[in-house]
Amino acid sequence: MIKYMPTAARKTGLVLFPAFDWCISPSHPEREERLLYTKDQLIEEGLEDVENIYFYNPEMALEQDIDRVHLCVPSAARLMTASHFISTGGAIRAARAVMDKEVERSFAIVRPPGHHAMQTVFGDRGFCIVNVEAIMVEYIRRHYGIGKIAIIDTDCHHGDGTQDIFYNDPDTLFISMHQDGRTIFPGSGFVHESGGPSAPGYNINIPLPQQTSEEGFDMVMERVVLPILDEFKPELVINSAGQDNHYSDPITNMNFTAQGYARLNKNLNPDICVLEGGYAIEGALPYTNLGIILAMAGMDTSHVREPGYDPARFIQSRDMNSYIETICNQAVEVFHNRHKLKKQYEGQQTVVARKRIFYDTTGFQVGETRVYNLCPDCPGYSEVVAEGLHQHLHGFCIPFSCCRKCSIKARDGFVRAPRESDTLTVLQDRVEDIFERR
Ligand SMILES: [Zn+2]
Ligand SMILES: [Zn+2]
Ligand SMILES: [Zn+2]
Repeated sequence: MIKYMPTAARKTGLVLFPAFDWCISPSHPEREERLLYTKDQLIEEGLEDVENIYFYNPEMALEQDIDRVHLCVPSAARLMTASHFISTGGAIRAARAVMDKEVERSFAIVRPPGHHAMQTVFGDRGFCIVNVEAIMVEYIRRHYGIGKIAIIDTDCHHGDGTQDIFYNDPDTLFISMHQDGRTIFPGSGFVHESGGPSAPGYNINIPLPQQTSEEGFDMVMERVVLPILDEFKPELVINSAGQDNHYSDPITNMNFTAQGYARLNKNLNPDICVLEGGYAIEGALPYTNLGIILAMAGMDTSHVREPGYDPARFIQSRDMNSYIETICNQAVEVFHNRHKLKKQYEGQQTVVARKRIFYDTTGFQVGETRVYNLCPDCPGYSEVVAEGLHQHLHGFCIPFSCCRKCSIKARDGFVRAPRESDTLTVLQDRVEDIFERR
């Protein structure tokens, strides 16, 4: 007897890691059930029997993979749980499946999430300790020599951690679409946050009004994301695939759908997706995840419908459309003005940026000062001083495409930095792939 077996048009790899033994607290929205219903839905859909869909086991990331991206205080191993190492390793496994051409596309459906984790890490913010996508991106750069990478953050919250990590990197285009920070955590993600002095215009934020629906997201894709990608020409497109824009999500105020997510991914055509947020564990995630997988695999998505789907509720007002249109125009301007924006730093040797980083899970703030050292030949090294509750940090960071002169200066700074017992002094050298601490 010949059994009918559906085939995916594109070879697609899936890494599923629900982290059953880890949660912030049993009633916390970011908990293991988030992926249990999704798993059931994928089995019910028969995805395990679809030809060209492959399931991979996650691996553990190495501390070196974390230290390539973050400056953790006191250390990555002290802050992270095994689940964080597996979540991160799951994304790396998904990336390797694509880079080694085992599959054409892959989706790391893993938790805990990561996009609120910034370069310096003193604790847990927005349910994130380390930045899963950023660690994956720098792993790809290190092991496969890929230069230009675009990360599109489709989570409902601003991807402030990813923005922070790549803020001064002109090889990483970061576009985040999210609910306006005036109405939701983390309160950032405005159009004027457009990139550091060596990468102005490469950080693009699209803050959307509450109740933005399919129409609004379609506009963002057509008017901002796709044209900019067309011009930037990345070698790799990553979707930071949060699904909390869904209309049933309990902690956000948007009006997006499973069909909308499927279409967005069909149009974006990302090489790799990494799950971020999404807290409607029964009503949305099983359907949004399924829609994304089918879209990536080049399969029919027309039947993907969440319970209670009613197209009438997704019509946007004309005012809302024109508001979103204005935001889209401003976002596109940022990218188009990137050469002009760069001119304002001409003749400067250093640019200083200060911020306060709030760790919402335990409720403390860290003041941070970053000095960008500008260079005509490379993005330049940066120096960061952060004041934690118990321990301070003094870091010297050499980016992936740093020139030799700047690398030497950074190392020199590290060696000469004053030794204080309450300060962790580190050198993060992405060229030599070395992380030194003192
Ligand atoms: Zn986002
Ligand atoms: Zn989110
Ligand atoms: Zn340089």
